[in-house]
Amino acid sequence: MSGPVLRVAHLYPRLMNIYGDRGNIMCLRRRCETRGIGFELTELGLRDRLDASAHDLIFAGGAQDREQRGVVDDLLATKADAVREAVEDGVALLAVCGAYQLFGKFYRESSGVELPGAGVFDLHTEHPGEGARRCIGNIVVEWDAPAGVQTIVGFENHGGRTRLGPGVRPLARVRSGFGNNGEDGTEGAVYRNAIGTYIHGSLLPKNPALADHVIALALARRYGHVPLAPIDDRAEERAHAAALRLK
Ligand code: GLN
Repeated sequence: MSGPVLRVAHLYPRLMNIYGDRGNIMCLRRRCETRGIGFELTELGLRDRLDASAHDLIFAGGAQDREQRGVVDDLLATKADAVREAVEDGVALLAVCGAYQLFGKFYRESSGVELPGAGVFDLHTEHPGEGARRCIGNIVVEWDAPAGVQTIVGFENHGGRTRLGPGVRPLARVRSGFGNNGEDGTEGAVYRNAIGTYIHGSLLPKNPALADHVIALALARRYGHVPLAPIDDRAEERAHAAALRLK
């Protein structure tokens, strides 16, 4: 393929993959290959080192507290510096739920143990403790997309409550559901080309505009603006509309 190629690094694909988060990778691949854009996937697990300059997009999915505990030392030892360096250099990143929390400053989980984060996002997360109500259910948020305000739909299930610092802006405003903490009406976070969110589902298949935004952001750093030809999104739009009717 002589045209653009999207190089994706998927961190901890087996340890951090709940609610079909792997579906985001499948969605990105299909949306690229349908347009003749190449797609190269590198899966990085425990002990695999991340090369900050080798990828256009870094992805990581959600996980229960137990799995987050299982990856955090490895994340800090073999990947966090490179993730921060890559994001500072404009590499795109999409972090869902458990990864979103671990890419902040820290996550104090249900047992009270504080897991140090990779420090990509200026935010922190605290679990109110065993027995506290979880933030579970379908979610609809409003996102200021390049083409105007759009909805993002999906599912959330997290105990942690995230507080944003001044160094990030929210990804979206909650229309229904909990979002970052069920109080301040924000969902997710954005810093440079890095996006964090609590939304599973998986996220991208039902939100084609966001999927294309992530692809465009990721390709622009090496190729400049790459026009993405329209593709058949009728199924995606029907699924999005159905999710909107749920709430
Ligand atoms: N374990 C974290 C929490 O409960 C993240 C859960 C998830 O990734 N869905 O908040």
